[in-house]
Amino acid sequence: MSVNNCLFCKMVAGQIPVTKIYEDDVVLSFLDIGPISDGHTLVIPKQHFESLHDCPSELLGQVGLRLGKIAKAVAAGMNSDGYNILCNNGRAAGQLVGHLHFHIIPRNIGDGLFDRWPSYKYQQGKIEAIAAQIRENLSDDSQDL
Ligand code: ZN
Repeated sequence: MSVNNCLFCKMVAGQIPVTKIYEDDVVLSFLDIGPISDGHTLVIPKQHFESLHDCPSELLGQVGLRLGKIAKAVAAGMNSDGYNILCNNGRAAGQLVGHLHFHIIPRNIGDGLFDRWPSYKYQQGKIEAIAAQIRENLSDDSQDL
């Protein structure tokens, strides 16, 4: 299944070249052409789903298995101290291509990436209210959890 004008579906179809890291019947993995560190790799399911929550759980499990193996190879190949897995969902979260994808970002001590993590404390009582709001929205398909 592919969607017209989807950049990543065109890559899966071989219509746009990629610098391939790995491919099988489930995923395609290739180097990001706008890396934020050397070896910055993308892993995508070959089937088109826009967001993480659109992807059926069984397929997501298959993608996740490959994601871990590829991330291990990326980290070893780049001799990195660690890596981040990033999955942006929605434009507000920085998703630029509407086809589910995972970034593997090799990290090294002191590289300065993601140094700003703007955390804060909840006001009294707010954390419980927010947890309740989120739990209410699990209800419909929570039997899968
Ligand atoms: Zn697509």
